[in-house]
Amino acid sequence: MREETDTHRLNDLKTRDTVVKKLADRGATLKDIAVIVYDLQAKYIDNLTVEMCLEHVEKVVMKREVQNAVLTGMELDRLAEEGHIEEPLRSMLLGDNGLYGIDEVLALAIVNVYGSIGFTNFGYVDKIKPGIIKSIDDAGKEEGRCNTFLDDIVGAIASAAASSVAHRYANK
Ligand code: MG
Repeated sequence: MREETDTHRLNDLKTRDTVVKKLADRGATLKDIAVIVYDLQAKYIDNLTVEMCLEHVEKVVMKREVQNAVLTGMELDRLAEEGHIEEPLRSMLLGDNGLYGIDEVLALAIVNVYGSIGFTNFGYVDKIKPGIIKSIDDAGKEEGRCNTFLDDIVGAIASAAASSVAHRYANK
């Protein structure tokens, strides 16, 4: 049993590294995400730092359901770019069709891990597109580029980490 747990932990760590690299390759480092978390929570928590936020972002990307959602969404973006997705889905993904909505639904699997504050934060982040999310959204509008899932994934990781920060430090 112990051995099995260790193997699971090792696999999660390996997947964590893959997830972090894929995000960074597409322009979103964990530090960028931590900056969004800081902006969301600094007004509620005294002496909060980006480094403290980064610890919570790290915690979020260690969760298996988060890793699975990130890998799935980013893969769909990539397949759409490379022309491996058939119509009518391909145009919906490449055009980031506002009525598609499955990008937000997938992101909810990430937000879900830290309870209801995460949902509120996600709605807010989706609307104002702070920091790196705006750059990701803009880059996705370039010809042949698809960031339809990525912007929601990054927003959801930030929202989940923000609610983890809130649970940890609020009410002091
Ligand atoms: Mg999207």
